Parts: sequence; structure tokens; C-alpha cells
Amino acid sequence: TGPETGPEASEALEVLRRVFGYDSFRGSQQEIIEHVVTGGDALVLMPTGGGKSLCYQIPSLVRKGVGVVVSPLIALMQDQVDALRALGVRAGFLNSTQDLDERRLVEAEFLAGELDLLYLAPERLRVESTVRLLERGTISLFAIDEAHCVAQWGHDFRPDYLALSSLHERWPDVPRIALTATATEATHAEIASRLGLQDARHFVASFDRPNIQYRIAPKNDPKRQLLQLLRAEHPGDAGIVYCLSRASVEKTAEFLVKNGVDALPYHAGLDTRTRAGNQARFLREDGMVMVATIAFGMGIDKPDVRFVAHLDLPKSVEGYYQETGRAGRDGLPSTAWLAYGLQDVVQQRKMIETSEGDDAHRRRLGAHVDAMLALCETVECRRVQLLAYFGQRSTACGNCDTCLTPAESWDGTVPAQKLLSTVVRLKRERNQKFGAGQITDILLGKKTAKVIQFDHDALSVFGIGTELREAEWRSVARQLLAQGLIAVEGDYGTLVLTDESGEVLGGRRPVVLRREPEKAARPARAEKS
Ligand code: ADP
Ligand code: ZN
Repeated sequence: TGPETGPEASEALEVLRRVFGYDSFRGSQQEIIEHVVTGGDALVLMPTGGGKSLCYQIPSLVRKGVGVVVSPLIALMQDQVDALRALGVRAGFLNSTQDLDERRLVEAEFLAGELDLLYLAPERLRVESTVRLLERGTISLFAIDEAHCVAQWGHDFRPDYLALSSLHERWPDVPRIALTATATEATHAEIASRLGLQDARHFVASFDRPNIQYRIAPKNDPKRQLLQLLRAEHPGDAGIVYCLSRASVEKTAEFLVKNGVDALPYHAGLDTRTRAGNQARFLREDGMVMVATIAFGMGIDKPDVRFVAHLDLPKSVEGYYQETGRAGRDGLPSTAWLAYGLQDVVQQRKMIETSEGDDAHRRRLGAHVDAMLALCETVECRRVQLLAYFGQRSTACGNCDTCLTPAESWDGTVPAQKLLSTVVRLKRERNQKFGAGQITDILLGKKTAKVIQFDHDALSVFGIGTELREAEWRSVARQLLAQGLIAVEGDYGTLVLTDESGEVLGGRRPVVLRREPEKAARPARAEKS
């Protein structure tokens, strides 16, 4: 039928039908599979749910020898192998969760040529005995899953992945296929160079997930905002709610349960059994809401997740894309909703300041947060901005909040100057630094205890900002931050000037801000807190 009618093509299609029970290939699966079957290297960028697994599973079945799959998802290996075995594929895995006997058994199967696929945790390849084992068998291909983990520029770097550069030196004739669902152009290039895949063919699928509606809202009362969303648009639907901390996972899950939502918590602090139990219920039962830290979700294949909500700002655009990508794998309309506030940025900066690693590492983390912030504050189509981040051009989508309710822009130069001069006054006259909350109180002329304590009602800027409401000042502060016109630092999120603040204060630079669309009405039903 298609242009490719070589023997590999028909054999691959035969395997697709006989073993996996599917009628036809999707997207560029066929091209990728043929390329690898005939011994070519490949770098595959395909969004979650695009069907990456078949791209190495089928070549492993068609080619002679064992397909070795390197994956960091140790917790999922058992499930992946069980699923393959149920289809009659001879699969096994080696990782740190096994005891010696289990490992020996898999090694024996590998050497006897009784495996089609061997899943391997990356740290196994640092163990010389594993390398010697591999050298004694016949390998059909190396698949490097979650290949973005090799990139230091990326959001999920794992040092064990660096060792994968030696695969090619040891096995120059074995084809390699690297796969990932998130990679900016920079990460993409880094994967190719670190893995020595410069000569590999690159297969880049569109990252667009048209059925996902992207929405980002200012955070006021996140739990209630979430409940309102669930009641209005997703009653009885399955979904995932991401929170930054374990404590907020617990609190949010409790809150939802009290308000009649079937919610379960998931975070690394729960014991293994509770975690596994909650995950199983989420997968098997209808309409469960999983409230989780980002520890949850990698490799979860639940097609009917109708919404993914973030109650805290994700650490990077890649992370956001990956997490929201768990919605709507069945192609049906789904919602990606995020609430964020200035406090999120303060918290992220604090985490970065205290993180391990060198300055370069901290700068990378900072750049990731800045990009996420820019996505939050854009007046453009969210999807255009998101896809541009992955180097893909597109036009306004009509299915995101800024397309559906275009954000009006307004001239925020004067409010920006007022806010910045308050920061300047505090610093110059008193050598004080305060966070956005205190600055807002000063601008609004509020005589709070803290304002009186520090004599801030005596400042000339006290009460000069009554033309805006408190929420509007918060929005101004967030947007100045997103535009790099102020910065936050320290544990308390104090506001400080940047190199560019002076241009605004000096009247040389106008400030265009986005006006938040009017909030939807609050739900009529009572909420329990
Ligand atoms: P990814 O790893 O890219 O997130 P998977 O390999 O897990 O995606 O595939 C996502 C889902 O799509 C799986 O349930 C898989 O069985 C299914 N799938 C993949 N390829 C095909 C195909 N050609 N026809 C039908 N279903 C497919
Ligand atoms: Zn849009």
C-alpha cells in the first residue's frame, strides 16, 4: 500500500497484528521501525501516548537477538514485563529490586537466547558484570527510553545516563534508538551529542495535544478553585491533581473527600503498600482523583484521565508539558488547569538557592522557572507558546484560556513605577527589603500591624496605589517578575530591583500588562473546609 513494501515492512506489520493485535501503525511508527530494523540509529521525539514503545518492541522481535531497553522507571518494569508476557513476548528485567536468584534466572534466559526484550535500569550498566553479561549474548538493539535524562540542560538529568555514551563504543554494530516525550531544541541537541547519535535519523512528531485545553489562573484559594472546576466541568471524572509538597497533597485530598470527591493521596512519604494500593484504585476504578506530588505519573497509562490540575507552579515547562500530557490520552476533550501565585516563585527560588550542585546548575534551574513563568503570564495563545518552547511553530489554537477569553492588555507603566519606587524607598531610605504583601499594603495605604511596626505609614509612597485592588497589585507584581523587571530573593521572597528596573523608573520603558479575565461566579453549593 504505502511506499515502503520491503520484507521488513510486511514483517513488522505482521508482528503488529499478530502479537499486539493492532491493525495499523500510527504516525511515523512504521518509518521508525523500518529504519531500526534495518540497523539504523534513531532519535525519536514523540509526545506521551504517541506510541513510542512499539518503536523498539517490534524491531526487537523482528531482529535477531535480544532488545535491551534502558529505562529509569524501575517501579514500572515488573508491570511492563508482565504486560508483554501476557502477549506472549519473552521479556525480562534486571534492576536493584531483585534478589540474586531472580537476577540469575533472567541472566540465564538472556544467555540461552530465551528473551526478546531485556529491560535494564541505567545504573546496571555501570556494573562491570552486567556489561560482561551483555557481551556474552546477542543484542538486537539498544533502546534508551526517557532519553532526556542524559541532558544536563533538561529538567530530569540522571548521572547514570552519562554511562550510556559507551554503548556505541562497545557495540558499534548494534543499532540504538533513543526516545523521549519532552525535549526542547537545546535538550534535543544535547541528547544527540551525549549519546553519540549525530548520525542517527531524527524523528520529531508534533508535540501538539489538540484535545487538551490549557488554562492558567491566578491562585487565590487553590483548593476551592479546584473544587469549583471539578464540580462545574468534571463531576465524576478521573483526574490528577499535582501539589508541590506532601503536606499539601494530604490536605488537598482530605478537602476533596470531605466535599464528596473520590480522591486519593500519593507521595513518596506514604508506605509502599498504600502507594501501590492507591495507584491500583486510580487505574482500575472509574472517576478517581489522584492528588499527588510529581512522584506520581511516569509511565502511567490510563487513557481516560479527563483533567490534570496543578495547584503549584511546576519547576519547568518540560515538567508541565509532561504532567499535563497525562490527560486525554484517549484523544477526548480534557483540561489542563494550573493555579499559580507569586508565592510559588518565591518558594521555587528558595529551593533553587538551597539545592545541591554548582552555580551553573542553579542558573539552569532558574532559567526553567523563568520560562514557566513566562508561559503563565503570556497574552498569547498558551499552546503557541508551549510548542514554541519545544521549537515547533503553530498558530492560535482556539482551545486555551487566552484564545477563549483573550486577555486584554493595559498600560501598567504608572503602577509599575509606583511599585518599583516603593521598593527603592525601602532600600534607599531604610535599607529594608520586604515581600510583595507588605509592598501592596503600603501602596494601598493599609495600616496593618506590620505597617505600623515599621513606620511604613510615614513613607511618601504610603497609599499612592488605591486605584488598584489588592488582587490587581498581586497581578502587577507577578507580571513584573515574569518580565524580569523585579526579582525575588531570600527566604521571605523580598522584592529587589533588576538591571532593567531603572528603565521603567526613568520612564524610558513602558510596561504592558495583561488584565486577568473576570473570575467565574462562585459555586452555589456550600463547601466544607
Ligand atoms: P508512549 O510511550 O509514547 O507514551 P505507548 O507506547 O505507551 O506511548 O502507547 C500509548 C498507547 O497507545 C498504548 O496503550 C499503546 O498500546 C497504544 N498504541 C501504540 N501504537 C498503537 C497503534 N499503532 N495502534 C493502536 N494502538 C497503539
Ligand atoms: Zn490557544
